[in-house]
Amino acid sequence: MTSQIKPQPGILEITPYKGGDSQVAGASDVVKLSSNENPLGPGEKAREAFAKSGHELHRYPSSDHKSLRQAIAEVHGLDSERIICGAGSDEIIGLLCQAYAGPGDEVIHTEHGFAMYRIYALGAGATPVQVPERERVVDADAILKACTEKTRLVFVANPANPTGTMIGNNEVSRLAAGLPEQALLVLDGAYAEYVEGFDGGASFVESRDNVVMTRTFSKAYGLGGLRIGWGYGPLEIIQVLNRLRGPFNLSQAQLQTAQAAVRDQSHIARSRAENGRLRAWMSEALAELGVPSDVSRANFVLARFANREEAEGCDDFLRSQGIIVRRVAGYGLPHCLRITVGDEASCRRVVHAVAQFRENRV
Ligand SMILES: *Cc1c(COP(=O)(O)O)cnc(C)c1O
Repeated sequence: MTSQIKPQPGILEITPYKGGDSQVAGASDVVKLSSNENPLGPGEKAREAFAKSGHELHRYPSSDHKSLRQAIAEVHGLDSERIICGAGSDEIIGLLCQAYAGPGDEVIHTEHGFAMYRIYALGAGATPVQVPERERVVDADAILKACTEKTRLVFVANPANPTGTMIGNNEVSRLAAGLPEQALLVLDGAYAEYVEGFDGGASFVESRDNVVMTRTFSKAYGLGGLRIGWGYGPLEIIQVLNRLRGPFNLSQAQLQTAQAAVRDQSHIARSRAENGRLRAWMSEALAELGVPSDVSRANFVLARFANREEAEGCDDFLRSQGIIVRRVAGYGLPHCLRITVGDEASCRRVVHAVAQFRENRV
């Protein structure tokens, strides 16, 4: 008998998100370069705050996240009333879709855009619309061309994942100004900390009423395991999202650790510098081996191979060596592998293994 109990439309179209693997059968000394994690982990201040946060586990956490919002606002020069915190920026992306897109509405993401945009759009019953990029770079004109009277949300990660490329403020500005009036532009700044002097799009939130920025503690802050992110937008929009947000969506451990982390910008500066140095080294070393990549502004490199077969062959070989990188065929990049910039030893190990792979082929 077929069940009459059915999920909402759209949900069965979702291909569940698959995180980066962390294990290889039979290998003990595994290097995980598949999830864009900070090899330094969180800073000392964040570690201490997390350790302390375990003392009052019987207490409910704050539901307005005021101290964390104020810390973020102070550090970034923002208005704390227009900040919302969530379990990773994923939760903020999900709330945006739930609040602003439903059946019959369109949610734009780009050709190689982050998988969660499509997943949350479908979850809300909306229609995801994929827009082409130009040589792995987000194309503002293509997005504007794809907009209709049904477009409600436009997601752009800047820098983007998995390409690592970025568009400039002029492009973002043109995009925000050209959107239909019922559409909201979401600038996903998951990797903003890796770009020196970049505000992640905060200035557009300040100057316009149709832009929201999302940020995360999962990447440069080294706290992916703890699940903390935040969003910044016009007051009315943040108030709408807060109606949907669970009152206790963040634990005290998440709140206190994030608060200590955001106040410790020296750890971010150190992580950014180390990432920049090793990213340059790794991409040059790979290029010398005949494996080019676009200039990455994030903490990973999108290595391009001749074709899918070579990319998969290299991935198989890396795995046999205990090195896990990310296949990105699901992002329309079957000939590429995304390699996180790890610590120096990991970067050397992956480059050495790619060299071995290339030598055995030619
Ligand atoms: C990693 C990542 C996020 C962050 O996800 P969290 O839920 O905050 O861990 C958001 N957007 C992009 C493009 C990412 O790569």
